[in-house]
Amino acid sequence: MKTAGLAEASATASAWKRESLSVGLVPTMGWLHQGHLSLIRRARRENARVIVSIFVNPIQFGPNEDLDRYPRDLERDAALCREAGVDMLFHPTAEEMYPEGFQSSISVGALTQTLCGRSRPAHFTGVCTVVGKLFNLLRPERAYFGQKDAQQATVIRRMAADLNMNIGIVVCPTVREEDGLAVSSRNVHLGAAERQAALCLFRALSSAQEQVAAGVRDTAVLLGGMRAIIASEPAAAADYIEIVDPETLFPVDHIEKKVLAALAVFIGKTRLIDNVLLEQ
Ligand code: AMP
Repeated sequence: MKTAGLAEASATASAWKRESLSVGLVPTMGWLHQGHLSLIRRARRENARVIVSIFVNPIQFGPNEDLDRYPRDLERDAALCREAGVDMLFHPTAEEMYPEGFQSSISVGALTQTLCGRSRPAHFTGVCTVVGKLFNLLRPERAYFGQKDAQQATVIRRMAADLNMNIGIVVCPTVREEDGLAVSSRNVHLGAAERQAALCLFRALSSAQEQVAAGVRDTAVLLGGMRAIIASEPAAAADYIEIVDPETLFPVDHIEKKVLAALAVFIGKTRLIDNVLLEQ
């Protein structure tokens, strides 16, 4: 496995293209965990070559967010990638990605104005811009994203379709710890008591699933139950708790088809997100 900066990664990906080798890309911000590895394994199965990118993208973080304390360990990540059979680790610098004079962006419309977009107004433009750059640099056949970041996956799918990027967007299931907590790089910030408190996200989502299975269709009832579970955890503060159409991300009042229950909750200083699809 090679670790490459921008010029080398782009040249290698072009060479693979010339040889008609299919390329699968897994974009990440590093501090790799089982969630990332599940994406990498799927990419490994479906492509002749696998590229993992590790780039903590500064433009997707707001001014008071956790860019500076985002966890980083390239050596450990590289060892995990090597073990997982990754062909190339693309690790550009911020200067390579955003050289002096950089002034373009990709912004997607209404899908980015809701859920996480409400409290993180510049976030999805940052995400789409960097993912668009990765797509242009590496020209993969397929790119792999996690359902854990459901809104991100929906926004990227829209961007790829709208801009005729001709790249398959593959969304993989959320990987969870044994007790249900969604695996996330940010979990490293949780102290022992916070780690316990963080279970309220999964508890709230599970209770909605159970209520739907028991026949509840009114989302106000489901949201009330979820809010009560988060409110009963003293270390937790909800950013949002919503039930939306998984494609439009518009709120749904009454469940008639598959809907997305999604939430963002602060546990102490750490903002966690999670979601489940609710099916009748
Ligand atoms: P990140 O490094 O957090 O930007 O995540 C990189 C990719 O891994 C994104 O597509 C995430 O949705 C995905 N991912 C993160 N956590 C999980 C998880 N627990 N299960 C599945 N995919 C995940």
